[in-house]
Amino acid sequence: MHKIMKLCPVYFLALACVLLPACSQNDGSEKNQQQRSLLLFGTIIEITLYDVDQGLADQAFAQLESDFSRWHQNWSPWTDGELAQLNLKLATGKSFEVDAELRSLILTAVHFSALSDNLFNPAIGNLVNLWQFHRSEEADIAPPDPAVIAKLVAARPTMADLAISGNTISSRNPAVQLTLGAFAKGYAIDIALAKLHALGINNAVINAGGDLKVIGKHGNRDWRVGIRHPRQSGVLGWLEVRPEESVFTSGDYERFYMYQGQRMHHILDPRSGYPSTGLTSVTVIDTDAGRADAAATALLVAGPEHWYQLARALGIKYALVVDENGNIQLDPAMAQRVHFRADESGHTRLSQPL
Ligand code: ADP
Ligand code: MG
Repeated sequence: MHKIMKLCPVYFLALACVLLPACSQNDGSEKNQQQRSLLLFGTIIEITLYDVDQGLADQAFAQLESDFSRWHQNWSPWTDGELAQLNLKLATGKSFEVDAELRSLILTAVHFSALSDNLFNPAIGNLVNLWQFHRSEEADIAPPDPAVIAKLVAARPTMADLAISGNTISSRNPAVQLTLGAFAKGYAIDIALAKLHALGINNAVINAGGDLKVIGKHGNRDWRVGIRHPRQSGVLGWLEVRPEESVFTSGDYERFYMYQGQRMHHILDPRSGYPSTGLTSVTVIDTDAGRADAAATALLVAGPEHWYQLARALGIKYALVVDENGNIQLDPAMAQRVHFRADESGHTRLSQPL
């Protein structure tokens, strides 16, 4: 639920009601607005359609519910679906045939991994499992044994270790275990919106726990998205999302536990095996939601000195980062887009990177 805090009041109202069944259909607050919420991908996926009749909306919701459910099953390492089965084979050096959807997802992840110099590295499933962030609420949670971390890092699993021939995938490195949580949500949103277009629906938003993409228009209103303050309640600013754009944020506040005064958060630096340091939050805008998702994660790992270069390498034009001291850096294009909260003046704002 935390990511809901990224959102401005307009969205907040919409999201505040997602748990009420009555709100999963047209809630009457907008003319011709139809809404459906799905609890999948570890978050609430809220689909809002504009200017569609009930029959078409129902058809679209049924289609997307079936798609997102299948993707959840097949792309999560925690189910018994395709990715989980693939991981079992990769660990033993065997090959496995995946379906065309998972193949495309993995090929795209290979691409963004390479562009990010493996800072976005979905091959580090063993490391992610070792840290056990799903247990972050539990009292006895502690970081893993440093020797085990070092061993997993030394095995250097990367997406380049995969051999992909048609739909058959194997790994040259048995240390590769795929975990697509940093990317699958964005990738899925792109495909889902393309499916809406194919049905003739041209005005919609898909919001997955605060990461979202819009197509078309929102009546006469702009789509406004708040950027959550990584260390305070509320937002540090907001921006207008243009049609066909997505906005994705990765932060160290999203899933973490404190250990001896240090924040152990869920985005790992594959070079060290430890949570990334230096930045607390990264927000990017891009027309490709998959790219935006992968980039938000990768830029957080890149840190205060290197995020700007990496954004360029990944083809990201708009990025805003917040460092551990609360300083905000943003590239010149993003500076044109963000409206800061009136009292957000205590921090240095650099429209040019350091
Ligand atoms: P969220 O999904 O919470 O919005 P991200 O998109 O940044 O956040 O994805 C974080 C998830 O990605 C982690 O929970 C973990 O499963 C996985 N992960 C952690 N570090 C990396 C990394 N360097 N590269 C790729 N995936 C990562
Ligand atoms: Mg991501």
